[in-house]
Amino acid sequence: MNTALTSSVRCRFAPSPTGNVHIGNIRTAIYNWLVARHHGGKFLLRIEDTDRERSTPEAVQGVLNAMDWLGLTIDEEPVYQSTRREAHLAMAEQLLASGHAYKEDKGNTGRGEAVIFRMPGEDMGFDDLVKGPLRKAAADLKDFVIVRSDGNPVFHLSNVADDIAMNINLVIRGDDHVENTYRHLALYQALGAPLPSFAHLPMIVNHQGKPYSKRDGDAYVGDFQAKGYLPEALFNFLVLLGWSPGDDREFLSREELVALFDLDRVGSNPAQFDLVKFENLNGQYMRALPDSDYKTQFTACLAEAGLIPDDDAYLDRVIPLLKERIKKWPDTAEQAHYFFSDHFSFDEKAVRKRLQREGALENLLALREAFAALPDFTATALDEALRNLAEQQGAKPADFIHPVRVAVTGQAGGPSLFELLEVLGRDRVLDRMAKAKETVASLNPSE
Ligand code: GLU
Repeated sequence: MNTALTSSVRCRFAPSPTGNVHIGNIRTAIYNWLVARHHGGKFLLRIEDTDRERSTPEAVQGVLNAMDWLGLTIDEEPVYQSTRREAHLAMAEQLLASGHAYKEDKGNTGRGEAVIFRMPGEDMGFDDLVKGPLRKAAADLKDFVIVRSDGNPVFHLSNVADDIAMNINLVIRGDDHVENTYRHLALYQALGAPLPSFAHLPMIVNHQGKPYSKRDGDAYVGDFQAKGYLPEALFNFLVLLGWSPGDDREFLSREELVALFDLDRVGSNPAQFDLVKFENLNGQYMRALPDSDYKTQFTACLAEAGLIPDDDAYLDRVIPLLKERIKKWPDTAEQAHYFFSDHFSFDEKAVRKRLQREGALENLLALREAFAALPDFTATALDEALRNLAEQQGAKPADFIHPVRVAVTGQAGGPSLFELLEVLGRDRVLDRMAKAKETVASLNPSE
């Protein structure tokens, strides 16, 4: 068995903190974390902050926040690569001494000599745990700089030096590093260090199959956090971008993911990010909350929008109607507004289509009469009254259903109409139906 996939597995996330944390990067962190937790090994963090111009303290904090928000706990103190410069340079000296590297004034610039690593001059290959066997011909494997003429160590040297020092035996990273891996393997060999296993993850792409970027929508962990999505949902969703449990389950708890996750089932094709799918999963996570937590959050969202529920019992009747429809907390007030205030806004398109059409207001007033006459203002009674009226007038139920929905909620869609009417109650419903004429006039003063 591959020692990298036992309880002695030591893997790491090694981000370069040069900006916001992209979902592709954090997915790499998640996969590393899951492998470590699944096998009972270690998950470490190394901040590759050697680019002094681009690595900022804010970007480092961004990485730490994203990991904290997603629950990506680490098992040892984080390593800051910038503090290890001397060790990197010592390693270059070692390679020079053993003849695996040489000095050269590249291009005779007169700016000093760089340290160049000598590739072994033979074909190289490795078994990638995701991509399978990979090979490259000697002719395509050129010597490369490990210390620049300005004395700064290069990524390849620092990355390998730190992985060796941290005893990393499994490197899981993005497949933009496949080409680098041949160089890294040659460095391990030259240093006589044990080789880690490698798993290169395919990219996250957009609908056109291009790398998913900010232009396609929210691409940074911070965006998802700011928009009120649940970290558990993002965690679950990102795991599924490239891995599946082998059946069609999609809603998987963190414990289930730890138990099931396996590099064998990481696909080698790019995974497409689909925001609609993610929102649905987020909605599922919200609905999985205990009722009392859901209610607390729901009430807090209303309060933020200045909406105060009349009483608890009313709230308990409204929530089940909206639960299916709310996909993220910040949408709550918009979806729920008309339940808690008469000053809700009207969707102009819906008004034009449903209330301004020929006969709509007359139908609405006739329906209002029928509703007003009901002894019990219940969903079943309202439903029956509407259908009877439609039949009497030789019209379709839809000719009444749509206008009343828009008049009472301002929206074209929403929860089951008769249930929402029952919950809103006789007074609000009849009042709003009577005001529909005014509403239409106020939205379109010229008519
Ligand atoms: N800092 C590199 C990156 O973010 C790390 C690569 C690695 O994981 O080895 O791409």
